Amino acid sequence: MNWNTRLQAALDKKTAQSAYRRRTARRADTLPPYIESGGVRYLNFAGNDYLGLSRDPDVIAAWQQALAQYGTGSGGSPLVTGYTDVHQALEHQLADWLGYESALLFPSGYAANQAVLLGLLQKDDILLADKLCHASMQEAAMLGAARYRRFPHNRYDFLEKQLNDHPESAILIASEGVFSMDGDKADIGRLKTLSEQYGAWLLIDDAHGIGILGEEGRGSAAAVGVRPDILVVTFGKAVGLMGAAVLCSQTVAEYLTQTARHLIYSTAFPPAQAAALAAALKRIRHADDLRAKLRHNIRRFQTALTQAGLADYLMPSETAIQPFVGGSNERALSVSAELRRNGLYVPAIRPPTVPAGSARLRITLTAAHEDTHIDTLVKGLQDAV
Ligand SMILES: *Cc1c(COP(=O)(O)O)cnc(C)c1O
Repeated sequence: MNWNTRLQAALDKKTAQSAYRRRTARRADTLPPYIESGGVRYLNFAGNDYLGLSRDPDVIAAWQQALAQYGTGSGGSPLVTGYTDVHQALEHQLADWLGYESALLFPSGYAANQAVLLGLLQKDDILLADKLCHASMQEAAMLGAARYRRFPHNRYDFLEKQLNDHPESAILIASEGVFSMDGDKADIGRLKTLSEQYGAWLLIDDAHGIGILGEEGRGSAAAVGVRPDILVVTFGKAVGLMGAAVLCSQTVAEYLTQTARHLIYSTAFPPAQAAALAAALKRIRHADDLRAKLRHNIRRFQTALTQAGLADYLMPSETAIQPFVGGSNERALSVSAELRRNGLYVPAIRPPTVPAGSARLRITLTAAHEDTHIDTLVKGLQDAV
């Protein structure tokens, strides 16, 4: 076996399937809603900075000041020396805001999901997860000892059958609040009812709901008056930074402190980042202006697209994520390339990130977009299909 031969063959196959992926370095200093790469400026409809908070002056000032005060790195994992009073205050802020006894910080949403599933579930337990749950959950489920079954996307009749199959087991039901590649929502009220009926616990990953939905942006579950047993929130999307938290009971937090490997064996994020996150969350509570602007942009986009006769291309979504279906990889790539020629940045999302045959343009709208930007996008889509 020759390593290089094998890798090259795999790369050639990706190319043949129009599945080859590349990173494109964008200029870091371009202001939203624009993005710049290769010397060309585009209107950006691909990011997750839904409220534009990555450029919020108060958050930036909080981070700068905290950096001067606390230095750069945390210097250790949370169980040794990495956990500071600043992290602790952020955890309390999160728990109070979202209505939980405890919050545990993680360096990323990927780590948080893996830590919870691997730290909580044991052999003979059952994880029932929506088929479209994030890669971090699917991977943890496959690595873990618990039995793992998936139900078709948002099909709670299938979930109920699976619940009936395992009356004796400890069951965790997992779903996203807003699905990252489809933009549609779980029915968290229904999930909560089912979980209570069958004595299971409910975990919601609300990476794309937190900051956006519900009063004060408390997220998908709060928006429908439900408190999942475990709530994962991430800070890389609407919050505009990086990192994540698991909201749970004190017992779960204590248990995960013993078992969550991503907490025990990984460096805590910097205390200055915790201070910046505290400022961002404070801003988010009072960001009804930004949330209203985002909702306006979503409505304007949907209305204009319908008027342009393109409504059939849109997947049903009320959120900032508005997938425009291409179908084959080639089709999605060619529409994306045509948009780019017209100054619009909307990359094609292809399998395995989405199911085979459902390559798409994952259009994301933000509060930083103006009416003219939305209109330009719709015109571009009209020209590209
Ligand atoms: C982005 C995302 C994650 C991962 O969060 P990171 O902080 O980026 O690691 C987890 N779950 C969902 C649904 C996501 O969209």
